[in-house]
Amino acid sequence: MTTASHAKTAAIAKAANFITQRTLTMAKCDEGYLCCVCGDDVENITDSDLYLRFVIGLLDPELLHAQPEKHIRCNPTLAQFIVADDFAPVEVEPDFAKQNLDPEYVSQREALVTRGWHRLKELKALGEVSILEFPLPEVIEALQQKKT
Ligand SMILES: [Zn+2]
Repeated sequence: MTTASHAKTAAIAKAANFITQRTLTMAKCDEGYLCCVCGDDVENITDSDLYLRFVIGLLDPELLHAQPEKHIRCNPTLAQFIVADDFAPVEVEPDFAKQNLDPEYVSQREALVTRGWHRLKELKALGEVSILEFPLPEVIEALQQKKT
């Protein structure tokens, strides 16, 4: 076995471990899959701020289990960048509202976060997918380059 494929196997084993831990304990906030902000269940992957950030490359996979879970809507500063018919816009304090941010940054963010949101719905529909295949293609690529 080459070193590269060895590293890959280790990465896959690690990812499998994430998902097992996720299934068993998911959030560190409290017991179960509770949102750190509102305290309610984060029932679906399409509600998960952690997975959204993972899918768009804002969260290192190693931290997926270490960070507290939140609803997407309970993290309005990120959720405001989801622009979709089936996502009701969230309100954000003026200091963090996208209306007051650099328009170019905002349009890049909207494109990325909105794709991430659609990706979560796709993942939900697909059912069983390896966690390594969750992120957007360019994020997967970046993660692979980091590992080799
Ligand atoms: Zn919440």
